[in-house]
Amino acid sequence: MIKELLWFPTNKCLIDGSWEAPTSKNEIALINPSDGTILIYIARGSKKDVENAVSSAQRALKTSWGKKNAHERGQFLLAMSKLVIKYQEKLAFLESLDVGKPLSQATKDVTTLARYLEFYGGAADKIHGITIPFQNDFTVIGLRERLGVTAHIIPWNYPMQIIGRSISASLAMGNACVLKPSEEACLTALAFGEIAREAGLPDGALNIVPGFGSEAGHALASNKEIAHISFTGSLQTATLIQMAAAQNIVGTTLELGGKSPQIVFDDANFEKAVPFLVNAGIQNAGQTCSASSRILVQQGSYRTVVKKMSAAYKQLQVGPAIENLDLGPVISRRQMEIILSYRNKASDLKISAEGRITKNATKQGFYITPQLFETDNYMHPLAQEEIFGPIQLIIPFRDETEAIKIANSTEYGLVASVWTENGSRQMRVAKAVHAGQVFINNYGAGGGVELPFGGVGKSGHGREKGFEALYGFSQLKTIANFCG
Ligand code: NAD
Repeated sequence: MIKELLWFPTNKCLIDGSWEAPTSKNEIALINPSDGTILIYIARGSKKDVENAVSSAQRALKTSWGKKNAHERGQFLLAMSKLVIKYQEKLAFLESLDVGKPLSQATKDVTTLARYLEFYGGAADKIHGITIPFQNDFTVIGLRERLGVTAHIIPWNYPMQIIGRSISASLAMGNACVLKPSEEACLTALAFGEIAREAGLPDGALNIVPGFGSEAGHALASNKEIAHISFTGSLQTATLIQMAAAQNIVGTTLELGGKSPQIVFDDANFEKAVPFLVNAGIQNAGQTCSASSRILVQQGSYRTVVKKMSAAYKQLQVGPAIENLDLGPVISRRQMEIILSYRNKASDLKISAEGRITKNATKQGFYITPQLFETDNYMHPLAQEEIFGPIQLIIPFRDETEAIKIANSTEYGLVASVWTENGSRQMRVAKAVHAGQVFINNYGAGGGVELPFGGVGKSGHGREKGFEALYGFSQLKTIANFCG
């Protein structure tokens, strides 16, 4: 089936607008999480391939791509957006097979990629500089300039969405990009390269080098010609990226993990809240940076929420991605073992409910039953560490002060939500919670391409999405003209 979905080579790197075999000729097997079989082989890019990609990006900045004006850059992104929709079905199947996510989620990811390209395509010529009132005999302006060659190192959980938010914002500002997709899910990144070619994006504006993190990833992060690193992934890798960036004094955007809370007060609308409470924990089998793994519920309604969430959990079905159930498999055997090791630490927690794995899920696939736990120990390892699997904890709190204390008790701060009908409490709690994004009576807003996104604390720094990303992928030059 996979061969029918491919209209681009998988075992090559995209360098200078052409598909090139990796210099080492080595390949990496991509595994289908739904049945553990080899899906296909991808290129194992090396340091040399990364160097070629970076040189190609530099050439593009000095020639064709670098000479395009903001409106022209936007037009390329808009053309790519239309092509994403043209290939919607193939892209969704590829993402579903590769990542193991239910087809409907993969289809949403395609639409979101198209929407990012459309948003940043439209925004490319709407980012203005500034004028600064200084001494009367000066005219001072601030120009928004591109950074140069930007590196994009991304994970396996939402390849299309992350490519959309980071590559399209960087291209909109006139940078040239080198993308290192994950060695565990790479197919839609390669398809995106072919879409850029079909849209006529000038050669070298986008280069793609698949490969292992310790090889191609490290080579890219430590390349001396890179002007900025946009990294999405784990805390452990972020530390290495940050050290590599420090050697070359380049900026980073770090989009890392989370332990995001939803805070439910006694006066919340439970009917409205419960689907969000559950979905935010189990979407993409819990392998979402902004997964809400902690549900904090006020004592008076604790049993009610446990009951309603448990009822929802009992309906959850896990099975092969292509069957489009509530959850697909997790990405790999290694990820499955990590999640199971957390389960082994949960013997002192009360399990409220769990979903079920369907009979079509083979033993060779990486399937995990979603589980809901009750605990009042908010410092428990399962309530503090990012598990990256379908496990949620319901934790009781007495009052607003305690809710904020529990919400802020982890080292992360990515997303949070507040469920209450009390208007002044909504804002008070939203302001007190440590997070880059806080929702009131909602969670996630369906992805929200327009909404700046990023973390505080160990969830990272910098913002992607929305207009804010365009500032991150550019720098301000101040020009003070003495005209006295
Ligand atoms: P990971 O850190 O293992 O890998 C991410 C990328 O980094 C991959 O492309 C990998 O090859 C590369 N890499 C690994 N070692 C490297 C090195 N030494 N130098 C350079 N690159 C290297 O993360 P993962 O397991 O792929 O993804 C899961 C993590 O990503 C979770 O922690 C999740 O929360 C986080 N995430 C965050 C966001 C966000 O927007 N905040 C979004 C998605 C995922």
